[in-house]
Amino acid sequence: MTRWQNSLKKSVVTPGQLADRFSIDPAGLEQVVSLYPMRVNPYYFNLIREKGDPIWRQAIPDTEELNDTASMEDPLNEENLSPVPNLVHKYPDRALFLVTSQCAMYCRFCTRKRKVGTSRMSVTRDTIKAGLDYLRKTPEIRDVLVSGGDPLLLDDDTLSDILTSIRRIPSIEIIRIGTRVPCTFPMRVTVRLASLLKRFHPLYINTHFNHPDEITPEATLACSRLADAGIPLGCQTVLLKGVNDTPDIIRRLMHKLLLIRVKPYYLFQTDLTTGTNHFRTPVETGIEIIKSLIGHTSGMAVPTLAVDAPGGGGKIPLLPEYVHHLGKELVFSNYCGVTCTYPNPVSS
Ligand SMILES: *Cc1c(COP(=O)(O)O)cnc(C)c1O
Ligand code: SF4
Repeated sequence: MTRWQNSLKKSVVTPGQLADRFSIDPAGLEQVVSLYPMRVNPYYFNLIREKGDPIWRQAIPDTEELNDTASMEDPLNEENLSPVPNLVHKYPDRALFLVTSQCAMYCRFCTRKRKVGTSRMSVTRDTIKAGLDYLRKTPEIRDVLVSGGDPLLLDDDTLSDILTSIRRIPSIEIIRIGTRVPCTFPMRVTVRLASLLKRFHPLYINTHFNHPDEITPEATLACSRLADAGIPLGCQTVLLKGVNDTPDIIRRLMHKLLLIRVKPYYLFQTDLTTGTNHFRTPVETGIEIIKSLIGHTSGMAVPTLAVDAPGGGGKIPLLPEYVHHLGKELVFSNYCGVTCTYPNPVSS
């Protein structure tokens, strides 16, 4: 067993283990954990400074998860958009391929909360084979997002086999990996893993940091190993009430991401997933945060604010209102609220 696998085994997985370190009532959380598993690996657990802080809220079960009647099991309609199990084909030219159900930490706000880390999500040799077959016979797919769960929790050999099979498909141009590991379990990003991944270029990684306190020396090392392997790194942050829903926190996060060579990609409104309603922020909050970034700091630090439309409509960007009028002249305001105009050429 490798060192990271050993460390993962020492994760906090029961409310009783939590009660050893913090004053909580474990009985109240047993029911939550029986429905939605907990796993907080030693690294991420040690980032908690106090009960209720932004790290705690992302990782530690909360009875609120059971009090959510407003939401949907599968808000993005992923199950119906899966031609074979664990492969979501929603957009014409790209597909989401789920290759494991395991994560290094089960985020309490996860979109796939209905199944990650449970027997409700079954990834087997057969489902992976069926996914690969579908990719082979669907040549309009040119961009594959390998996700889960967290694909970097697979051991090196399994991951390498899957990536090799995808790379052999001539119609696949781009491979992307979606992983929270650089943030939640950076010790998994070994030198060996980085050199394995670099055999599959063009390969992109979208990781997922939500708070500036997650950008530690360990996370920095993980990202520099990946960036040094030539892998462009993006970040898909989720706006979460009580974690990062202020302009100041998001600006600090975006600046710190650029320092570790991660380019902010998306900032998501929380999905309508059952058990996560207590994390949802008003849409206005996200728009206000984006408005506070655009023009006020580097364009490099500005992600696209997006809502993933319930029902499987896809990701839809949200922008603050800059355009007042568009006719013979475009009348709009700049980031400071100053009105500007631009003559619109007559279309011929
Ligand atoms: C997010 C997502 C994609 C990729 O969308 P991009 O905007 O290209 O990053 C593809 N398929 C599914 C099902 C997705 O949810
Ligand atoms: S790492 Fe991603 S897939 Fe895993 S629990 Fe967190 S949000 Fe969900």
